Amino acid sequence: MSYDPDNIFAKILRGEIPCKKVHEDDHVLAFHDINPQAPTHILVIPKGAYTDMDDFTQNASDGEIASLFRAVGSIARSVGAAESGYRILSNCGANAHQEVPHLHIHVFAGRRLGAMLAKTDG
Ligand code: AMP
Repeated sequence: MSYDPDNIFAKILRGEIPCKKVHEDDHVLAFHDINPQAPTHILVIPKGAYTDMDDFTQNASDGEIASLFRAVGSIARSVGAAESGYRILSNCGANAHQEVPHLHIHVFAGRRLGAMLAKTDG
């Protein structure tokens, strides 16, 4: 899949639409999900134009990859989720129901998150 520069997260990265920012560094932006599925629901995205985890793990630099995962851990600690627990999730492609075609890692926390996967195939 080629990268769509008009996807919603590309627009957030360009400052064309607002976000509730929680973290930014050279390679990473993180912000609150607009439709939270848990008391804490943060999206962590690379600034580079990567469609999904498959693209990112093939084409991103080691520095970009390290920055993204360091940011996930740092953000989880900063919102107090490291002690009580949290879940990270990244939907990749159609079977995973990825809606926004710019790589994002969801960070969920703040309540018991239940079983790992829903039993439906929705
Ligand atoms: P996914 O299904 O993994 O692609 O998740 C896309 C996520 O992006 C959903 O949880 C949406 O609620 C979230 N989302 C869509 N538009 C925005 C936005 N403008 N700001 C923050 N989160 C958004």
